[in-house]
Amino acid sequence: MNLELGDLEELYQDVILDHSRRPRNFGELSDAAVRVHGDNPACGDEIHLAVKFDGNRGLEEIKFTGHGCAISQASASLMTTKLKGKSRDEVEEMLGAFHDLVTSENNDAPKKLGDLRAMRGVRKFPQRVKCAMLPWRAVEQALRQTEGEATVSTEEPEFA
Ligand code: ZN
Repeated sequence: MNLELGDLEELYQDVILDHSRRPRNFGELSDAAVRVHGDNPACGDEIHLAVKFDGNRGLEEIKFTGHGCAISQASASLMTTKLKGKSRDEVEEMLGAFHDLVTSENNDAPKKLGDLRAMRGVRKFPQRVKCAMLPWRAVEQALRQTEGEATVSTEEPEFA
C-alpha cells in the first residue's frame, strides 16, 4: 500500500492531538462497578477503564487512566465523552459503528459518531487500528461484567 503525506495528516488530525494531550474523563473512579485493564503489547499501549452502571445497566460513569501512543489515548478520551450517560443499546451500537469506521474501506463515517469520525484515518494503518480499538475492547469487556475486574489484550485470538 502506498501511503502519502495526506494519509498521515488525516491520521493525526487536530481533534486527535487535542484529546491525546488533554484527555477527557482521565482519572480514577473510586466507586467503579467494573474495572478492565487493556493492553496492546505491539505498541505498548495500556488502559485502565473504570465504569459505573445506572439502574438499567447503561453507562452512568466512565473514566480511564493509562499511557501509550497518541491514537490509543485520544481514542479512549473521545470514547468516554461519547459513551458517558448512554444506554447499553446505544453503547453497543456505537461499538459496532466505531469498529466499522476504523476497519472498513468504504464506510462513510456516520454522523452519529461525531468527533470520533476523526479516527477514520487509522484504517490505512493496521497497527494503529489495534491502538484505536483498545479502549473499545475494554468497554466491550466491561459490558460483559456486572462487577469485578477483567483484562483484555490485543494479542488474544478473539481480537480481530
Ligand atoms: Zn498505540
